[in-house]
Amino acid sequence: MPFKNLGIEENINKILKEKLYTKPTLIQSKVIPLVLDNKDVIAQAQTGSGKSASFVLPILQNLFQKEVEGKSKIKVLVLTPTRELTQQIASLFSEFSVNLPKKLKVVSVTGGSGIGDQIYKIQQGCDILVATSGRFLDVLSKKQMNLSTIECLVLDEADRMLGDGFIEELDLILESIPKTRQNLMFSATYPQKMKELSQKITTDATEVKVESETLINPNINQRVIEVDKEKRGPLLRYLIKKHKWKSVLVFMANKRATDNIALKFRKYGFNSASFNADLDQELREETLEAFKNKEFNILFATDIAARGLDIDNIDCIINYDLPRSPSDYVHRIGRTARALSSGDAISFIDYESMDHFKLIEKRSDIKLKRETIEGFELSGDAPLKVKGPAPIKGKKKSKKDKLREKEALSKSN
Ligand code: AMP
Repeated sequence: MPFKNLGIEENINKILKEKLYTKPTLIQSKVIPLVLDNKDVIAQAQTGSGKSASFVLPILQNLFQKEVEGKSKIKVLVLTPTRELTQQIASLFSEFSVNLPKKLKVVSVTGGSGIGDQIYKIQQGCDILVATSGRFLDVLSKKQMNLSTIECLVLDEADRMLGDGFIEELDLILESIPKTRQNLMFSATYPQKMKELSQKITTDATEVKVESETLINPNINQRVIEVDKEKRGPLLRYLIKKHKWKSVLVFMANKRATDNIALKFRKYGFNSASFNADLDQELREETLEAFKNKEFNILFATDIAARGLDIDNIDCIINYDLPRSPSDYVHRIGRTARALSSGDAISFIDYESMDHFKLIEKRSDIKLKRETIEGFELSGDAPLKVKGPAPIKGKKKSKKDKLREKEALSKSN
């Protein structure tokens, strides 16, 4: 069914054709009519399935139809967990609205750039405000914007927005916007606890789940390789050369490790860079842009790159360190195989992380064959199992972990 039959009007259709969106994806065909009908929606679909356009397009259309004269007022608030995703969504709103008769004003609000400029832009007129929750609260505390005109709230990567660290921010935000509004929530993963919370935010929401055999996009070729910690670097260099990968995104557990390994790889003649919350905002944007444009091949990143980023043609995702939670696994590997393309996702595991990977497999409903690569096999013997349940990494966070997470969170905002 073409976009037109879903109710998307000609000015927006023209851009869709230019962008080669020939027909709606499954999530788009289900969500667009509901949003046009002003319904609340809780949507779940695989990474890379076109979730963003499923709310961007009908929201633009709704705004276009309700168009009123005079200065723009904030009608739509979109909250996302990271700066990069905020900018990506804001750009989509701008790109798809270029042909609309009245120019809609889209303002993005994130940490890392001057708050004064952002407030000024909002005051100059803003129809759609896309923000990270932390910076939005900073702006809110200045009491210089009118939120009483908000008609629609979107939570992108909703499970993160309802998770630890964000939920308190979200509560404050919900108190400051009109109670009667349309609510739209999107994510690839919805842990049970989040489902309960989301019912509180929405009113009679329609739940949309794109039926698929698996939670994970089948175009991602998932692999697990057993390797000692110290041999992961040499193995990665070997794999990159062997497969002649042009674009590789490598996830690591901490910020400093991403910097160190990127430097090491450069010394070995690889074209690599690091991406973490310690980079200043300008460098963060430049690095991502250069990676998108394939100006270098290997990006070593922390989980700030795990959510929502839409980068074409990433050949392989590497879990150099395993993600803490199973849903982070789904989001990380979802950075490849976007929009019907395919890609590899390889996790490195050793004796210590085997149990944790089993947990990831169980929760993600997958079972992968363990591989070994000649010359990089695990050394020594598997440690003897101690009776009783093994302490599974990621189940309980230490105080130090919590502090680290809090610090990272404030920087991702
Ligand atoms: P998303 O899941 O929203 O991040 O989208 C994943 C990718 O699919 C992005 O590169 C979009 O540009 C692309 N995309 C989304 N909808 C369509 C469509 N209907 N036709 C072709 N490509 C699409």
